[in-house]
Amino acid sequence: MSLDEDHGWVAAAAEQYDDVVALRRAIHAEPEVGLHCPLTTEKAKAALAGLPLEIRDSASTTGFVAILRGQTGDNGRTVLLRGDMDALPMTEATGLPFASTLPGAMHACGHDTHTAMLVGAARALCARRDRLPGTIVFMFQPGEEGHHGARFMIEDGLLADPAPDAAFALHISPNAPSGLVVGRPGTIMASADTLHARIIGRGGHAAMPHEGLDPIPVACEIVTALQVYIARQVAVTDPAVLSITKIQAGTAHNVVPGEATLLGTLRTLSEATRMQCQAAFKRIVENIAAAHGCTAEAWIDAGYPVTANDPRGSALQQAVATELFGEGGWQTMPKPMMGAEDFSYVLRAVPGAFAFIGAAPEGSDPATNPPLHNTRMTLDERVMARGVAMHCATATRFLERGFD
Ligand SMILES: [Zn+2]
Ligand SMILES: [Zn+2]
Repeated sequence: MSLDEDHGWVAAAAEQYDDVVALRRAIHAEPEVGLHCPLTTEKAKAALAGLPLEIRDSASTTGFVAILRGQTGDNGRTVLLRGDMDALPMTEATGLPFASTLPGAMHACGHDTHTAMLVGAARALCARRDRLPGTIVFMFQPGEEGHHGARFMIEDGLLADPAPDAAFALHISPNAPSGLVVGRPGTIMASADTLHARIIGRGGHAAMPHEGLDPIPVACEIVTALQVYIARQVAVTDPAVLSITKIQAGTAHNVVPGEATLLGTLRTLSEATRMQCQAAFKRIVENIAAAHGCTAEAWIDAGYPVTANDPRGSALQQAVATELFGEGGWQTMPKPMMGAEDFSYVLRAVPGAFAFIGAAPEGSDPATNPPLHNTRMTLDERVMARGVAMHCATATRFLERGFD
């Protein structure tokens, strides 16, 4: 018997569909950026009102968890489903009838659909509470777009009681065929750290550079040395990308500046390579500067860790997608994406998996659609029914069978 015949999740999700679309559009029209998204939280909570959920608020964000305890006798398993809630600081250019009414904010990463799908799943799962053998934690999380919302919610203790045994998340994508669930075991997204360096020399006349201490060639040498390091000391089987994206120094053709600054990004696919490259960045900046008599400061704004799927978690997602939507319902990604995701903090604490669900608009080419974070990004809303069914079936399967 397939999961679908077993639970009817596709049909249950279809029943939620109209409400999910309405909620998504309401959230889309009033996007909020960062860790504090009060209007979005209000809309999600209003849609959950009256359900048998225990709500716990995050102390440091407007996020919250909603806890659903099954009624068939608790077998001790707890599963977490996550939906992020925040938008991006950009102005929407889709022309949609429910487009952002707030200039400078847009749901260009589809987190409006994630929140709406998680609400839809919570409603459908509450309706089956009498058949749930464990506990489900719905994590409504703001501040995914670089604000570390998941980490703050973990630090607030929201993943401690009940502590999940598994965690799952879905991310919508306009660049995959509509309805296709796409994931992979192991690393699915990269770590992302911001690199900063300041090389301090001594300013003076450009005609007599030996009387000063020119930081510009030193900065250039550092940029080259960093690329040599990546090419010669990082294993190609566990790669890293290091891009210096901004160099700033000087004011005029005849003045040696007193200092130069560098800005860049480091992306890796394992924590081991990440730590190795972070240490090398500081070592190379400081020592090349010192070799030329300059001083230097190098510092790193730690971004998100590597998003690492537990192979059992992605196998479970694959099994569920295939059972719900047929053999063509799942595709294994051949390689990770170099973007980053703060669900990585959850997956560092709890085994589980993150997957994409394709939502290329009808008649469009997934390969050339405006991507996530584009002002013209649009999605096929019908996919949200599949997302709700995926959430419900993934959670119930884990409660019933664990990772088996
Ligand atoms: Zn994003
Ligand atoms: Zn996103």
